[in-house]
Amino acid sequence: MNSASEDVPADTVRDENLLNLIGLTRTELTEAVAKLGVPERQQRMRVGQLWRWLYNRGAASFAEMSDLGKELRLRLAEGCSIERPNIAQTLHSTDGTMKWLLRLADGNEVEMVYIPDLDHGALCISSQVGCTLNCRFCHTGTMPLVRNLTAGEILGQFMLARDCLDDWPNPDGHRKISTIVMMGMGEPLLNYDNVAQALNIIMDSDGIALSRRAITLSTAGLVPAMERCGRELRVNLAVSLHAVNDEVRDQLVPLNRRHPIAELIQACRDYPSANNARRITFEYVMLQEVNDSLEDAHELVRLLHGLPAKINLIPFNAWPGAPYECSSNNRIRRFASVLNDAGFAAPVRAPRGRDIMAACGQLKSASKKAPAVKRKGRRANTAGG
Ligand code: SAH
Repeated sequence: MNSASEDVPADTVRDENLLNLIGLTRTELTEAVAKLGVPERQQRMRVGQLWRWLYNRGAASFAEMSDLGKELRLRLAEGCSIERPNIAQTLHSTDGTMKWLLRLADGNEVEMVYIPDLDHGALCISSQVGCTLNCRFCHTGTMPLVRNLTAGEILGQFMLARDCLDDWPNPDGHRKISTIVMMGMGEPLLNYDNVAQALNIIMDSDGIALSRRAITLSTAGLVPAMERCGRELRVNLAVSLHAVNDEVRDQLVPLNRRHPIAELIQACRDYPSANNARRITFEYVMLQEVNDSLEDAHELVRLLHGLPAKINLIPFNAWPGAPYECSSNNRIRRFASVLNDAGFAAPVRAPRGRDIMAACGQLKSASKKAPAVKRKGRRANTAGG
């Protein structure tokens, strides 16, 4: 294994009485400064200053917020914190991919991955600890607990990655993290409110100011929330389709039993970006002799007809005890060529960070020394990227 791994103490002391400012909306921040005794006429200005320190410059302490006044800085330091998740482990792949195992305040762990590409890169962040969807091909994290991440924990991942990559403002505006993909652990649309709050802060033009076009949210197909996501957030959409008929998709993605393919595809057609010819990404995991026949490829073309779509073919990232195998290169190539001939871009996702187990869930499992056997019942969702 060619990766460098460094373990850092993850349990720095936290004072639970401190209010973490990361992830608060402007309204919540205003309430916080009001509680600290900032008079009403100053609150707007103070919140604006704080916002820029936190999200424009990435300040990690109140001491550096020079224009806030000494008195306020002291009161902030006494009652508030600026907290990112703790790093339990950092892994560097030989291909530049980086992966972090993050420990949250309650001891739960999630993963985050940075995938560089020439002069920029994508950050893959998690939305839940564990997942309730039980997709059959998804690596078992054997995580008994499932909970939503808070807005602060979702946003905190991004802030932490910028710290680690030294990616806070620089004069030429160059960004190492140029895109965010909500493709880590969990189903983001099952944690809609917190995901939306974090993304709205990330998109806020006075702060981090990442464009909605630079953000992609991936869903297993929670149809009702897709509509809301399109209306309110208008970020790029990725859909984990993985099968072209309900019989197979019911097996692979049990959520399909609630929201079958026809309903899902209609929700994609109704998604605002589809009207603007911003393409929707369809993720399709390649499982040998399960969903990878030529008939499947032709059916996929038929299903997506008229949609501005791009299809990401993901070679199955096998895990010990998995009930599937990855399709052969030959079958993947034949599948892709049917899609290409029909005019669809269908890149085969290149495996990245294999030497550091970049498919989400695997690092966490290793950390817990969890048995890698398939368990009945609840399983953790893991990104297979
Ligand atoms: N719950 C969301 C976000 C997870 S994104 C969703 O389902 O879209 C992670 C992507 O990797 C999903 O498309 C998921 O289906 C896929 N994936 C999960 N395990 C995988 C594996 N072992 N091999 C390949 N892809 C996998």
